[in-house]
Order: sequence, then C-alpha cells, then structure tokens
Amino acid sequence: MAKAQASDNASISRLDQIKISQYFGCNTFSERTMRERLQKDVYKSYRQSLKRSEPLSPEVAKSVALAMKEWAIEQGCTHFTHWFLPMTGATAEKHDAFIMWDEPGQVTERFSGSMLIQGEPDASSFPSGGLRATFEARGYTAWDPASPAFLMEGPLGKTLCIPTAFIGYHGEALDHKVPLLRSMGVVSEQAVAALKFFGVNAESVVAQCGPEQEYFAVDLELAQQRPDLMFANRTLQGAKPPKGQELEDHYFGSIKERVLGFMQEVELECFKLGIPAKTRHNEVAPNQFEIAPIYEAANLASDHNQLLMEILKSVGERHGLAILLHEKPFAGVNGSGKHVNWSIATDEGHNLMEPGKTPEENLQFLYFLSATLKAIHTHGGLLRACIASAGNDHRLGANEAPPAIMSAFLGAQLNHILDAIESGDVANVSIQGIIDLGIGNLPRIEKDATDRNRTSPFAFTGNKFEFRAVGSSQPIGLPLTVINAAVAEALEELNAKLAAELKAGKELKAAVMTVVRQAIIETKAIRFEGNGYSDEWKVEAERRGLPHAKDTVAALHIWEQPAVKAVFSDRGILSEGELESRLHIRHEQYQKAIAIETQVLREMAETQILPSITADLGARADTLAKLAAVGINVPATLKNALQTQATLAGEAQSRLAAMKEALVAAEALEDLHARTEAFGNSVNQSKHALREVLDLLEEACDADLWPLPKYWQLLSPLV
Ligand code: ADP
Ligand code: MG
Repeated sequence: MAKAQASDNASISRLDQIKISQYFGCNTFSERTMRERLQKDVYKSYRQSLKRSEPLSPEVAKSVALAMKEWAIEQGCTHFTHWFLPMTGATAEKHDAFIMWDEPGQVTERFSGSMLIQGEPDASSFPSGGLRATFEARGYTAWDPASPAFLMEGPLGKTLCIPTAFIGYHGEALDHKVPLLRSMGVVSEQAVAALKFFGVNAESVVAQCGPEQEYFAVDLELAQQRPDLMFANRTLQGAKPPKGQELEDHYFGSIKERVLGFMQEVELECFKLGIPAKTRHNEVAPNQFEIAPIYEAANLASDHNQLLMEILKSVGERHGLAILLHEKPFAGVNGSGKHVNWSIATDEGHNLMEPGKTPEENLQFLYFLSATLKAIHTHGGLLRACIASAGNDHRLGANEAPPAIMSAFLGAQLNHILDAIESGDVANVSIQGIIDLGIGNLPRIEKDATDRNRTSPFAFTGNKFEFRAVGSSQPIGLPLTVINAAVAEALEELNAKLAAELKAGKELKAAVMTVVRQAIIETKAIRFEGNGYSDEWKVEAERRGLPHAKDTVAALHIWEQPAVKAVFSDRGILSEGELESRLHIRHEQYQKAIAIETQVLREMAETQILPSITADLGARADTLAKLAAVGINVPATLKNALQTQATLAGEAQSRLAAMKEALVAAEALEDLHARTEAFGNSVNQSKHALREVLDLLEEACDADLWPLPKYWQLLSPLV
C-alpha cells in the first residue's frame, strides 16, 4: 500500500528502489495524509477555510496540530519550526523541540494549535526597511495552510517545518509570501469577474508558475580556495580560460556521472518534499545546468523554488560540489537566469492562457491575452525594477540574457492575428488559413509552431508567458506578485470597458472585439518579434518610448513612480509604507552586495595576488641575475617581460588604493540614493579597473605561485 511505503521513507535512498509516485510527498503533511488522519468534519472545515482563504478556527487548528505532531513524531521529528521567507531573499527558521515539562524532571512532547498557527520569532534582526522600529520589533509568523508542512532531515533526526507568512505587529507584510498571496487573491477576483462575461462561473482563478532554475556546479575543494566564491558567490577575478564555451558542446550534452549522481539525489530530496522536479539538462556554459519542476500554484511554486535552492546547495556539498546560484559567477561565460513561466487557470484547471478549441473560447483567450499585454505595457518599468539586483546587472542586456527593456514576443501567427484585429481585417487573415472565422468574426487560433525567440524577456510560449529576465538567485515571489498585480489592474480596466460596451447595447462578441482591439492598439509598442540582443532594438525601443533602466541604480527609481505605487496600494497588495520599506531594503542589499565584493577583492588582491606576483618577480629576477652571473647573456625580451609585469603590479597597487578610497567615500554618504549611486558607479568601476590588471597579471604569473584556482580548473568537466 502506498501509505505504508510512504511512511517508511527512511529507507528511501535510491531512485530505483520504488516508484516515484509511491513516495512523492512522503516528507510532507499532505492533503492525503490529512484526509487520512483528521476527523471527517475537521478535514472538511480545514478544506473550507482554505478555499475561502479564511483563518482556521481554534478548534480545527488544535486538531490539525495534534495530528501533525503525531505524524511528525512517528516520522522521527524532535523539533518544529515556522519556516518563512524574510526579505533577505533566503529562508529563515528557528527550531523548537517538542518538549515541555510534564512532572518535575520529566518532559513530554507537546505541540498546540496556537503553536501551529502563530509564532513569534525575535524579528528585530530581519530587514524591515524601517517598517518596524526595534522597540516594537515583534513580528509574527502565521501558518499558510495552502502550503503543506514538511520534514527537514538532519543527521540525527528530523524537524517539522511549517511554512508561514511573516507579518509585523500591525499586520504589515515583512516577507515575500504575504504580498504574493494578496496578489493571487486580487488577480483571481478580476479574472473571475472577467469570466462571468463569457458565461463561465469559476469559483476562483489560480496564478500558476513553473520556474526553470539554472545554476553552476564547481568542485567544492577548488571553490573553497577562492574567497570570492565563498563570500560573494562569484569570481571577482579570473583570466579567461584557453577554452570557454566557444565550442558550444555543453548545451544538452551528456550529463557526466558525478553530476548525474548529484542531480538524482537532488531529485530524490525534491520528490520526498513533494516538489515535482521534472527536467534536468546541461546548459550553455561549461558546468552550467538546469532543473525545472512541473508548474504549480504560484505560492507553492515560490516556496518550492526557495526549498529547491537550498536542496541544491546542501546536496551539492554532500557530493563535493559548490552550487553557484549567482547570476554571473564567471566573466566571459554565460550567466544564469530563472525563467518564470506564468499562467492563470480556473480552480477546475482550465488554463486561461491557452488558445481554445472553439471560437468562443478563443474570444475569451484574446481577452486575457490583451489584459496581459496591457499589464506588460503599463508596467514594463516595474517588471524590470522587480528583477534588478547587483547580480542580475551583469546579465541583462549582455548578449546572453534578455535586454533590460521589457517587450513581449507572441510568435508570428498570433502577431498576425492581432495585426488583423487591429486593422479590422480579420476576414483577410482567414484566407491564409491561420484563422477560422467560425461564427461571425471570431478567429480560431492554433498553437504557434514557429521557433522560440530566446532573446525576448517576456515571451508567449503557447499556453503561458515566460518571464526570462529573472535572475537565478532571486526569489520568484516578487516577480510573480508584480505580474499578478499588473494583470489584475489591466483586467479591472478591461472589465469596466466591456461592461460599458455591453451596457451601450453591443452584443458580447462585438463588445469584446472592441475592447480587445483597443488594447491591441494601445499596447503595440511592447510587441517585438526581432532580436532583443541587437543594438538596433535598443534604438527602436527608445523610439517607441519604452522604458530602459540599464542597471539597478536606474531601476530603483522606478519604484517611486505613482503608477507603481498605485498598482500595489490600490489593490491592497502592498501599502505605500510596505512598498517604501521594500525599496529601502533593495537599496541596502544592493549596496551591501557591492561592498562585500569590494572588501573580498581587496583581501584577495592585497593578501594573495600581489604578494604572489612580488614573489614571482623576485624569483625570476634572481634567476636572471644568476644567469648573468655565470656569463649568460640575458635577452632583453626576458627583462622586458619582467619589467612589464612589475609595471602592471604597480598599476594594480594604485588601482587597489583607488578602490579602497572609492569604498570609503561611498560608505561615508548619508543619503540612501547617493550612496547607491556611488556604489553602482565609482565603487563598481574601481573594482572593475582593478580586476582588469589582476587578470593580466594572472596570465603571466608562474602557475605554481598563482594563489587561486584558475577559471580552466573551475570550469573543467566534473569527473
Ligand atoms: P521549455 O520552456 O524549456 O520548452 P516547457 O515549456 O515544457 O519547457 O516548460 C517550462 C516550464 O514551464 C516548466 O516548469 C513547466 O512546468 C512550466 N509550465 C508549463 N505549462 C505552464 C503553465 N500553463 N503555467 C505555468 N507554467 C507552465
Ligand atoms: Mg522555457
């Protein structure tokens, strides 16, 4: 029986012992486990609260907590924790043992309803962006029943993790989950209202996401010899390897055994936690890989992606691998992204982004498509701003990732249809066999068979949109919140227009076509089918008036625009205060990331690289002197090479001093914006300038004296 096998998960250590379906989710307190373990009426109340997004009653919570505790202890749990996603971008947990005093000197296991529902971690050390003064540092974690509790396995026992939302004393959102849940509620409300026009009565609409996660794997022992990889998650120095990704032989290549073993263990951990890991493959760059799950409700996808990033790192360590989630671990080698695939579907699973089989369904599809285009058109700036980070700056617009200009790719057929609708010439298009007129003027849309456009930041891929500009290390909660909020706003506007058209006496088809046509015309500027990497597109985009925030410094200003504040605050997703605090945190995180990189590079240059260069110079000078001493004519070229290296070392020394000065100057600035600008400009430039000479020095340094593992070593096949 599946259940018996599932509960015996301790023995599952190989993928080929039992079928995935038999142990999938065995480390979660899943719907099925709840149904089996809760009394019928308790389970029913739980389901109902979930469906209506209402809090659990104290009685129900008590019963759920009891069942959860019994299950967890049976599985070998000693502790529990409220697991949450503070705005650091990582996950947070503080473990408590189940024990409490029973009689003097004797403990018993206890876990109450209130411990399940609410926790009170000492929140004062988490970033709140000024939202929470330390004197009222209390923050609460509240269980999100939509995300199942799960077990984290440790060397000597397990911990029950309860996914929670993290909120302040006055209910303010202190994490990435609360706004995401709010945005899902809002987009559901507007989509349900839209569906009513089409005669569809959905109870709710769910935003769904499948994030494709890219990462690098490098040998852990080598990585540990590089302070930059350990502290800044990327190399801050490194001369180009003799062979990079020029041969393009890594993409979809055969997966080497060591990596495969690692991937399989990652998948095993994922399956036990109910994370539907689906695909694995080699990516474009050497030692770059990707894992993608089957899509899920956006809040679950977000929790699962967060967990996946941790699993990748911890399983990597067990396999002697350092897993790099940074957007740009190696200069001159492709960086890593996270494709956030997004769609909305009814609670019965009908995907609203899927062109339908009948003309009626296609009318509805065109309506939701127009709303999404409108969302991207109105909030292209915000979409760019929500993925801005020091790491992603190295990637966006660098001919390996989408540009920092937001545009939408629809594919030739769909584009053609929209053009025809715009010109009012639907009949003409039908002759070309793309559109079946069906009833009246309704088009039939077929799945686009044309090639994907990999250069587009926001591409329609048949039944979903793919937001490709997200960075590999970024939590997906915020990008998803932005998409949901922007689409909800667009739907609200289209719904109002459609209602007005109907009220004016138009029949449904004609009314929808009017609204859709108007949206198509309004949003034309963001539709782009060409090469998003090209320079011509930058010129063209500027002509079209599309926002282009080249880097994080520029993108951070976008958060202060009235339209950006409104899309969140008008819908109760983030109040102005909550938004402001987030902006503050983004500034701080950006500054901190660059400050850390600068300090690490200083340390490496001053205490490792320059001493090695001096030693190398000294050793070579000694040798030349010895040669001369025995009467060997030392060629001038040899001396010149040494002179060049010595001059470069001197240059490095002065650039190092300049970098230190730039850092001190930036840190002395009081004003938040001025400081961000200084870090983004003078500090970053000084870092870059120093790196340039260090890379040149590496190329000429005696390999035995060079103190760091080189790019070719880090990027060699993992065997
Ligand atoms: P690729 O884009 O590499 O061709 P797929 O299109 O199969 O691969 O899927 C990529 C990701 O998109 C997967 O995580 C998949 O689960 C997810 N995905 C597929 N359909 C949807 C959908 N309707 N909504 C959200 N994500 C989806
Ligand atoms: Mg994809």
